[in-house]
Parts: sequence; C-alpha cells; structure tokens
Amino acid sequence: MHEFRFKNNRLYCENVAVEAVARRFGTPLYVYSYRTFVVHFRKLKAAFRAVRPLICYSVKANSNLAILRVLVREGAGLDIVSGGELYRALKAGCPPQRIVYASVGKTDAEIEEAIRRGILFFNVESLPELENINRIAGRLRKKTDVALRINPDVEPKTHRYITTGKLTNKFGIDFRTAKKILMLGQALTHVRIRGIHIHIGSQITIGEPFVEAIKKVVAFIAAMKARGIAVEYLNIGGGLGIIYKNEKPQTAVEFARKVLPVLRKSGLKIIMEPGRFIIGSAAVLVTKVLYIKKTPLKKFVIVDAGMNDLIRPSLYDAHHRIVPLAARSGQSEKADVVGPICESGDFFAKARRLPKVREGEYLAVMSAGAYGFSMASNYNSRRRPAEILVRGSSVTVIRRRESFEDLIRNEGR
Ligand SMILES: *Cc1c(COP(=O)(O)O)cnc(C)c1O
Repeated sequence: MHEFRFKNNRLYCENVAVEAVARRFGTPLYVYSYRTFVVHFRKLKAAFRAVRPLICYSVKANSNLAILRVLVREGAGLDIVSGGELYRALKAGCPPQRIVYASVGKTDAEIEEAIRRGILFFNVESLPELENINRIAGRLRKKTDVALRINPDVEPKTHRYITTGKLTNKFGIDFRTAKKILMLGQALTHVRIRGIHIHIGSQITIGEPFVEAIKKVVAFIAAMKARGIAVEYLNIGGGLGIIYKNEKPQTAVEFARKVLPVLRKSGLKIIMEPGRFIIGSAAVLVTKVLYIKKTPLKKFVIVDAGMNDLIRPSLYDAHHRIVPLAARSGQSEKADVVGPICESGDFFAKARRLPKVREGEYLAVMSAGAYGFSMASNYNSRRRPAEILVRGSSVTVIRRRESFEDLIRNEGR
C-alpha cells in the first residue's frame, strides 16, 4: 500500500502533484508520504495487538529526524546500529528504554554512551563483545541489560548480500556458543542477559523462514529455562519484504497469522525491528531526464540522479519501478536508465521497457524510501538531495539540499 497515485495522468503524493514539488525544490529529490509510513506502522501494531510488541523501527533504513520523530510519537521504539544512530534517536525524542542496539562492531565509546543513556538492550553479537560491555558497565557502575543475538542458521531466500541469519554470515552467535554464554552469563556481574534476538535478513517475502527461526529460538529458550536460566524477551528482528516489481509479500496480518501462535505460546515479551516494511514504499526519488543518448547498440536515458543518491540497483541489482510523472499510453521502448556518475555501475534500470521519454521530463524511481537516502554519498562531489515530506496537502522540507560549502565543510583551508 502507498499513497503515490496517478490522478488525471499526473503522479500525486497524497494530495500534492509530485511535479510541482520537483519544480519548486529541484531534482534529484526524495519525496515522502507521511500517511504511507504511519499507516504501515499502525498496520503492524494492529496485527500484533495480541502480544503488544515493542516495535523498534530500524533507523538505518531511513534515519531522517523528521521521520524518526513521527514514528516515536506513534509509539515506536528504535533499533540502532551505531553511536550516530543513538545520537539521532535521542534527538528524535525516543525514550532510551525504547532503544535496542545491534552491530557486530560496537566501539568502547559507543558502548559507554549507550550505557550512560540507559538504553533497553544491547543486542550482543559475540562473547568478546559481551565481556567488553560487562567491563565497561563495571567501570561505570551501571548494571546493563543485554540480549544475545542468535544466528539461527536459516535460509531466508533473499539476496545474498542481505542474508544475515546463515552460519556463514558474520552476525549473531550459534546455539552452542549461546548456551555457553548464557551459563557463563550468570557469572558476569555487570550485565543481565534478558533476551534473545534474531534478525535473519531483509526483503523476505514469505513467512516460513521467520517461523522456522522463531521456533528454533523458542525451543532453545525453553531448554535453557529447564536448566534454570530464563530470559523475558524475544526480539524477532526485521526483514519484512515489500513490493518493488511483482513480489507478493506477506501483509502484516498474514505475517502475524504465521508467527503469532508461536510467539503467544512462548509467553515472552516481543520486540520487532521493521525498517523497509515501514518506510520502503513511502518515498520516490524524483529525477530529471538530461539526455537521450542512442548508441549503435542501445538507448540510454541519462538522468540527473546517480548511484550516490540511490545505490540499491548498483549494490544489490535491485529492481525499482520507474515511471514518468506524466503518464501516457502509446509507444514504449527499451532503454537503460543511467546517472551521470563516472562508473558503469551507475544505473537505475537496464533494458527496461519505458514509455518514450523526452529530455527535460521528470521520472519517479518508486519505493525508494528504505536504504535510499540513508545510503546516499557525496561520490563525484555531488551534493546529497533534498528530502520533502508530504502530509495531505502540506509540503515540508525535512532535509535541505546540500550546498557546495557543505561538501568541503570539514576539509582544511
Ligand atoms: C537492518 C536491520 C533491521 C531492519 O531490516 P529491514 O529489512 O529493513 O526490516 C532490523 N534489525 C537489525 C538488527 C538490522 O540490522
């Protein structure tokens, strides 16, 4: 579901014509629909009502402060993966007790700051990290809660770069080691192991891998409990897929129907960490066609956005629908849609059938809300795009376009 629709052959975001926004603020431009991401958050919350989960939105999917503030106000917690995201989470007004912190490589400074702020949990990814947190917590004289991130070794059937729950991945702890750590954990004086965490991958469109992983960890938790070692929390991570092309991802309700029985039976407090599901379809990247270039072999549509603005096609071979802001029927042609960056990997689509587009017209790259701006860079000394939030008929700049001055701000004079 999203709020980008054609009315009289013009693409609208909620009640606003996207082209009007593009003309006003220039391109490339991210345009977000408030209603889309809020509704997604609410749908997930409603579907899981029976277990009243803490839904920690995954900040790395899109970390714009305005978006974080809206979700925090809706009752979301935040899932963070760095000191920078902790800073953003606190700036967005998130109560520390709604923050969970994963990452295989937390530094001492990051750990110390998170302990001082009193976050809900660290999601611990190795024994050395746990010992380090214990040591730092001891020095700060502040007992700290952690969850163990388990690598349940399941195959989520998604792109290999976004698979995180196989034993060949760097994430989490295998069951045998987790068992040892839980037993040893009793002896660590400054940490309490209060939960188990999993996050098996991203853009997962079916329920089975989640069910498989959750069943494995619930059985593990029960076995540990039988030995007198109990935890209260189960964090099932994120990873819910969305539609980019012709996927049929599970809805929140279908997902809940699959996993709720296991979750309810476990009696554990539930946390989840959706990112893409909330924000993925809530934005488009608007770009202008600069040139149509015909070569003996191909036709290239050269646009003013590049892989620095949206890297998913280059990085994951990801498919994003591309539509002209002005819809039309008639002829279509195959073309590569490419950016201006000096890399052959700088493309948004290859051999894509598109309506015949003209120089100077605008295109929307759809479903660009997740891992879009948050992965943007300044490569080729390009200024990162502006971000616009549309709510009903209102239009707000939630990040201004970078200036040339911004590009050199931290460099020596
Ligand atoms: C990235 C990440 C998420 C969010 O993943 P999505 O696929 O965007 O839902 C959740 N939890 C952890 C630990 C992550 O690293």
